[in-house]
Amino acid sequence: MLIIFDLDDTLIDTSGCVTPFKMKECVKALTHMGVQLPSVAYEELMQLNAGSSKSKDALSSFARSYGATHDQIDRVLDLLTSSLPDDFIVQMTPKAKEILEFYRSSHHLALVTGGHPPFQREKLKKAGVDSSIFSMISIPEDSVKKPSYEMLQEKFSLPPSEIWVCGDRIEMDLKPGFELGFNTIHMRWGRGASMPSQPWIKHSVSCLPELKEIIR
Ligand SMILES: [Mg+2]
Repeated sequence: MLIIFDLDDTLIDTSGCVTPFKMKECVKALTHMGVQLPSVAYEELMQLNAGSSKSKDALSSFARSYGATHDQIDRVLDLLTSSLPDDFIVQMTPKAKEILEFYRSSHHLALVTGGHPPFQREKLKKAGVDSSIFSMISIPEDSVKKPSYEMLQEKFSLPPSEIWVCGDRIEMDLKPGFELGFNTIHMRWGRGASMPSQPWIKHSVSCLPELKEIIR
């Protein structure tokens, strides 16, 4: 059996730990660039982010609404995926590390995560995850995961019924898995927590230890 995990808001608590830090940095940077922001800029940005599907979209529309130029917006967007401080610790979701350890000897584990590859790897490292636990790590920059899923299926020559995909984003993580006939598990965390479920989603969990009841 193969279990494919997503990273952000599935294995690591991105929305609770990385996003707030990054958004604070972006507010500081915009102020530095001379963009006039209100004293509640951070709170406003976080609220906007909660209602957006991507941090990038929230940040650029926030900056634009306060008159930031295209160049200033580009510079602040770059900060979202720039290196974290050396001593920054990325928190995992509850017991995520234990779950990876639990399955590593009995299942193939893979990580498919969308985003800027160096930043995705950095978060994994700062979360203290030994990347050798995964038989394959794929980081499609455009967040289109289906080709990575197909590659994994081919690599392990498994029938779709023996492949599990676990992620917080329904469209991005689960839909392509469902289309390939994989078993889908919705991790209700971060943005995924408030997403209405879909009838085709096989299982839904609010933390990874619940997987033990699903994948035996
Ligand atoms: Mg995610």
